[in-house]
Amino acid sequence: MIPPSFEYYEPATLQEALSLLQKSGENAKILAGGQSLIPVMKLRLGQPTHLIDLNRVENLSYIREADGMLKIGAMTRVADLEASPLLKSKYGVLHDTAMNIADPLVRNRGTAGGNVSHADPANDLPATMLALEARMTAVGPGASRRSFRAQDFFVDSFTTALSHDEILTEIAVPAYAPGSGGAYLKLEKRVGDFAIVGVAAQIFLNHDGTCQKAGLGLTAVGPTALKATGAEDYLKGKSLGDPNVLAKAGELASDKSSPVADLRGPAEYKKEMIKVLTVRALKRAQQRAVGGSAM
Ligand SMILES: Cc1cc2nc3c(=O)[nH]c(=O)nc-3n(C[C@H](O)[C@H](O)[C@H](O)COP(=O)(O)OP(=O)(O)OC[C@H]3O[C@@H](n4cnc5c(N)ncnc54)[C@H](O)[C@@H]3O)c2cc1C
Repeated sequence: MIPPSFEYYEPATLQEALSLLQKSGENAKILAGGQSLIPVMKLRLGQPTHLIDLNRVENLSYIREADGMLKIGAMTRVADLEASPLLKSKYGVLHDTAMNIADPLVRNRGTAGGNVSHADPANDLPATMLALEARMTAVGPGASRRSFRAQDFFVDSFTTALSHDEILTEIAVPAYAPGSGGAYLKLEKRVGDFAIVGVAAQIFLNHDGTCQKAGLGLTAVGPTALKATGAEDYLKGKSLGDPNVLAKAGELASDKSSPVADLRGPAEYKKEMIKVLTVRALKRAQQRAVGGSAM
């Protein structure tokens, strides 16, 4: 279908984008990669009156370590996350996630900021951001800045904590530390599909090899991506080499989920798959933490 008509703007600066957003009112939308917004408009599930395209705004696309954080500009393409040697070598969970999003065509256009701002519970980056305890930075009227913890950012299905006149500019996660590792595993019907379920794991090991801290995020098994806090707390101080510990963590992660039956499978199946994927993701995260490599 053809979307209803709308006003289209191509601002060159963030300032200009913000002022257009304010002027255009509550029915204006930011256009990033367009890989979710355009289908939504074509299906007439959303009918924004104004589109403010960020593609010409400079300095919103970067991946860099600074101030003890890994910083990702909101307009960074998913393909750039996938191709980044830094992510490949040190941030395995982010590299895995990028590789698992859709297909190369979608990854070439889709952006990190769009993926999290769309807040589809079946999108892959939100769970990873929960596991990594990311912070989202947005700018709003008068260049005011707000920063959100990932767990406060994802409010409901397709709803974030951003207000209509704010633009997400950056996602930041704690910089790599020795003894840490992560992994993202996704169960899908065919390569390139949205997840049946997905699990993101990030762990930090103590010197004796026990788990100092774990982050676990779940995809497509609730109204938003979910942070499996019960499993995270349980893992503290435990040995990830113990299969009973991993199995218990899988159960706790599954307890957190509330999947619904759909064409991708029954709810019980999805709950079981969360257990399996949690165990596997933790094992891979541990291997990477011990091996000192993200791969
Ligand atoms: C065939 C297909 C398969 C897909 N499969 C997957 C998949 O397996 N996994 C997955 O995770 N995703 C998948 N997607 C979705 C894809 O990853 C999208 O790119 C992503 O959801 C949105 O990113 P975008 O940059 O394209 O954002 P857009 O579509 O441009 O925008 C999406 C929403 O976010 C808002 N927005 C965007 N950027 C900002 C910002 N900086 N500040 C404030 N609001 C903003 C927009 O206003 C809009 O409401 C798929 C898409 C398609 C078409």
